Formats: sequence, C-alpha cells, structure tokens
Amino acid sequence: MADPYSKLVSAQFGRRLAGRLGLPAPTPLRRYRPGDPVVSGPVLLGAAEGSRLGPSLTRTLEAVRAEVHETPAEDERYAGLVFDATGITDSTRLGQLRDFFSPVIRRTARCGRLIVLGTPPEEIEDPVERTAQRALEGFVRTAGKELKGGATAQLVHVSRGGEEAIDSSLRFLLSAKSAFVSGQVIRVGARRTGEADGQQPLRGKVALVTGASRGIGASIAETLARDGAHVVCLDVPAQGEDLAKVANRIGGSALQLDITAQDAPQRVVEHFTERHEGLDVVVHNAGITRDKTIGRMSADRWEPVLAVNLAAQERLNAALLADSSPLRRGGRLIGVASISGIAGNVGQANYATSKAGVIGHVQALAERAAERGVTINAVAPGFIETAMTAAVPLVIREAGRRMNSLAQGGLPIDVAETVAFYADPGSDGVNGNVIRVCGQSMLGA
Ligand code: NAD
Repeated sequence: MADPYSKLVSAQFGRRLAGRLGLPAPTPLRRYRPGDPVVSGPVLLGAAEGSRLGPSLTRTLEAVRAEVHETPAEDERYAGLVFDATGITDSTRLGQLRDFFSPVIRRTARCGRLIVLGTPPEEIEDPVERTAQRALEGFVRTAGKELKGGATAQLVHVSRGGEEAIDSSLRFLLSAKSAFVSGQVIRVGARRTGEADGQQPLRGKVALVTGASRGIGASIAETLARDGAHVVCLDVPAQGEDLAKVANRIGGSALQLDITAQDAPQRVVEHFTERHEGLDVVVHNAGITRDKTIGRMSADRWEPVLAVNLAAQERLNAALLADSSPLRRGGRLIGVASISGIAGNVGQANYATSKAGVIGHVQALAERAAERGVTINAVAPGFIETAMTAAVPLVIREAGRRMNSLAQGGLPIDVAETVAFYADPGSDGVNGNVIRVCGQSMLGA
C-alpha cells in the first residue's frame, strides 16, 4: 500500500537520489500483525528523581516480556526509550530530560518509540511544578520531529491515582499499533475497573461502527472483530452490497440506516436492545465532505455535512447516555474528527466546523459519560490513504502526504488501531482524549 514516491525511495538508487536532492525518504512503517510481540527489542528505562510510576512501568514491561535496561549498553539500539518525568517538580530539573535522552536518542531502532510520562499540568496546584510539567510537551514534540527511521515520540499524562491505569496506553504506544501516531499527549485518569484479555480484549463485546462499508470504517470494523467483538456494520442503504461483504468477511452483521434520519437513534437503541441485549462500543465514523470556500458555500453544502458529521452523533450519544439505553457500563463512545477540525482547511469550513464540533462534543460529555462508567474519546486522522484522499488533486495530495514527521500518509488500519485502543477494557482511565493519527502533521501543530 506504499504510495509511488515511497516505493521509489525505498530502493537504494531512489533513496540516494532523494538524499542528494534533499527530498524526504520515508521509512516503511512497521505495522502490527497478530502474534507479534508488543516491543521487538530492548527498552531503556529511566526516571527523574522522585518519580512515581516506576512500579507500574516495570509491571507492564515485564508483562510484555521486554528486555529492560536501566543504563545504556555500549552500541545497543533501543526499540523503546521510556522516561518517567513525574518527579520533575521545577524547571531547574528539566535538564534531566537532556541527561537521559541526549546520549541515546540517535540509537533509537527503526520504528522505535520514545515515551515520556508526566503529570497533567491542569491537575497541579503548585505553579512551579505545573510550569515544569507543561514544559515537557515542547521536548517531546521536538523529539518527534528529530527522530528518524519511522520512530515516534509521545507524552503520557498520568493523573495522581492513575498509576495502575497506564498499562493499555503503554502497550499501544510501544507497539506497532501506534505506527502513525506521533507527537501526541495522551491523558490517563484514575479510573480502573476493566481487565482485558491480551489477545482478544473485546471478546463477548458488541460494537457498532457507522460508515463501515468501506475505507476507514471497514478497517475499524475488521480490527474490532479481530479483537473479539461482534461488530454491527452500519451504512446507508445505497452501500448495502459493500456493507454486507464487510459484515460477512468479519462474521458480523449489517444494519442499513441513514444516521441523519429522524428516527435513527431510536432504531439503533431498538436494534441493540432487541437483537443483542446490549451494546459496548460505538464508533461514529460515517462522514462526508462538500468542499467550497466560505464565499461560495451554499446551504445545501453546509447542512448535510453538519448533519452527518456532528448532529447525528450528538443525537445518538444523547440517546445512548439516557436511561433505558442498551449501552452497558464500561461502554465506549468514539468519535472520528480530523486535523481539519484543529487547523482549519481552505474550502472546508463546513467540514472543519463539524469536526471541531466532534472534539467539543467529546470534551463536553466526558464527565457525564464517566458518571455512567462510560468513556468518550475521539481520533483526529491526518492524511490517510483512502478513496476520499485519492480524489484530491495530485499536488495537494503529495503535500498532504509529506507534511508530517514521518513524510508519508497513514493507512486506515492506523486509525482503526487507535480506535481499538480506546475500546480496550483496560483503557477505562482514558477519557476525553483526542489523539491525532497524523504522523505529527505540521497542520494544526
Ligand atoms: P469514506 O467516504 O470512504 O467512507 C465514509 C462512509 O460513511 C461511507 O461508506 C458512507 O456511505 C458512510 N456514510 C455517509 N453518510 C452516511 C449516513 N448519513 N449514514 C450512514 N452512513 C453514512 O470516508 P473515509 O475516508 O473512510 O473516512 C471515514 C471517516 O474518517 C470520516 O468521518 C472522515 O471525515 C474521517 N477522516 C478521513 C480522513 C482521510 O484522510 N481519509 C482524514 C480525516 C478524517
């Protein structure tokens, strides 16, 4: 699935030519295959003095059978560099980041992982500590831009009391499942009830994926089925044939429905109450574009985009969070936003408004969802290779692909793996997050 330019520069001649011309030479990203280990080489683990995550980090690294080093070995290349920075309580101690990473960052393996863990600044009262913790972001985002060879960098903010909840985030970020996620800040809160089966974390769960007949939605449906869920694939009746193919392939079922229909929330509630006796994971993936600049934007381009991308999702979530909803405790509501909703995009005022609304909706409902034992999060994809982006003119398409730290487009599976991470029962401390799946795109940074 590599694009033509990536194919060219993966050959020795092409790579040399690109180097001479100063053009990007994207590294083919490693992606997860069932049975792969979480981490495929040694991990160097460090901590600032007084940090609090040591025991949880050690437990996860042991559970995934990582070879852990606490001091760098001569000439070793590291699949993971993990630094617990929760002990950095004032800015004069930030140099500990440099002390740990400077000697080893150039020894990060191909598609390696750099992870810094801190405390969410907004939860810290002391202004001195809050300042120092906020500063970690600048370091991590820069590391993401400097790393080569398909490696990524992330910051994980762990609430006080959330120490036991970091396992699923760490597994996701260390593994090839997070191939196209870089420069992100992920927040892990204190809730922890869910235990997951390592191979099939969604066994016995029922999931709904909207817009599942093709593209990213089909990949999300496949990935949730791989993880053990029974997936109900929803799409408009016009997509019925493709929808049935996806549902059959993954042993799921199909539901033909236009999510903007007046009675759509009621029909979804009835379907899951009557046919499945409940629902665990809902992925609002269906989305459309009707591009025009604001001066030429007619109501018939504006209204459908807002209706499909935002209003349908708000109405369905309201029904699912109401009493007598089939959504079970431990449920997951997952939105699909876009980096256009963060950065804005010429010709996409309708789309960007709807996708910024998806982010707002996640933030607005996180607390209420948590009261019901449910989490709500979103992914914000950047440039993903799908039918939607194949229709973009070549020059804009090429710019979209290269303008990120990994110098390539992502694949639908990259979005799907992030959705599956949210869906994992072990991710119940992950609430109100928006993770960009964009290879650290320069847009909206
Ligand atoms: P796609 O057009 O290939 O698929 C979208 C699906 O949604 C289609 O099957 C369509 O029939 C369905 N759909 C549309 N309106 C519907 C309705 N009213 N009811 C039910 N189903 C409906 O798009 P894609 O590229 O796979 O994108 C999936 C999601 O990811 C969208 O929300 C999109 O905005 C978002 N996204 C995509 C990219 C990208 O690069 N492809 C980037 C950022 C965000």
